[in-house]
Amino acid sequence: MAQNKLYGTKDSLTLWNKDTTSITIGGVSFEFDKVYEYNRPDNQIVPDEIVSEINRILAIEPDFITSYTLPDDFNWEWNLTKKDSYGMQGSLIKRISSYFFKYHKIKVSAEILSRIGNLLSKELKTETVVSFDLTNNLERNPDYFYYGNSCWFNAASNGRYLLMDLGGGAVRSLYDLSYPRGRCWYVPVKDNKCIALFNEYGNEALFSYARMLSAVSGLSYRRANLYDTNKSMYINRNGNCYIVGEPEHLTDTDYYTSAVEDKYSYSSYSCEYCNRCFSRNRLKDNYDINYRIGTCLNCGKVD
Ligand SMILES: [Zn+2]
Repeated sequence: MAQNKLYGTKDSLTLWNKDTTSITIGGVSFEFDKVYEYNRPDNQIVPDEIVSEINRILAIEPDFITSYTLPDDFNWEWNLTKKDSYGMQGSLIKRISSYFFKYHKIKVSAEILSRIGNLLSKELKTETVVSFDLTNNLERNPDYFYYGNSCWFNAASNGRYLLMDLGGGAVRSLYDLSYPRGRCWYVPVKDNKCIALFNEYGNEALFSYARMLSAVSGLSYRRANLYDTNKSMYINRNGNCYIVGEPEHLTDTDYYTSAVEDKYSYSSYSCEYCNRCFSRNRLKDNYDINYRIGTCLNCGKVD
């Protein structure tokens, strides 16, 4: 793994590490530009009309006294991973059955439960296909990363180059192969044993990216704070991040990026030919330190 090697230094025309085709976290490798997919059970709330229908089915149960309906504050989420105020968790069917048994000592018949189950599976979409990919090439068109107007593609481009040099990149959540739902950045931390996810944009919360990586790999994740040792990356939300890795590396609350030798190479300049913003270490030597302009290695490439 060559994650510590710096790329795009002034002797190099390689703007990102083309030789690295995957990232390994705690023994698990993620290939770049491969679409990962899995089925995520939806945690959606049953709509009111289905709730009424379920109450009607329960009301005709022969053993029921009519007043034994589900309480108004019953939680109608399809699946609960934590206990609700009635001390129940798990699937809705299981909780309906538990509720009547626990509070009314009534066993709802299997026939009624299966009628409710059939209704729910007919009316509710229970799974969503989640697709995502990773890349370490942050030189792509800004729109590839969902939010092309991010300062990371303009005035704060230096942070993006630093991120690439630190072995970082992007995780994209995908609608399909051509369009992202959102993205976040990742950067290796803790001697490259874990990655920190940060600066999400789009339709996913930051923890969703942690969940995606975890779902296909079995790695764990936790919320933590991320500090840029080089003070050159713009990290949103006061460094709020998710760390993905093996449980034994997730015991800290604070995580730090690796230090680079010359952090002043990571300041933003614009290329006088293509007008894009680059870090100083992506320019030919004739840059102007006062006006912060120069020739990027792409435009000034000689061979
Ligand atoms: Zn250029």
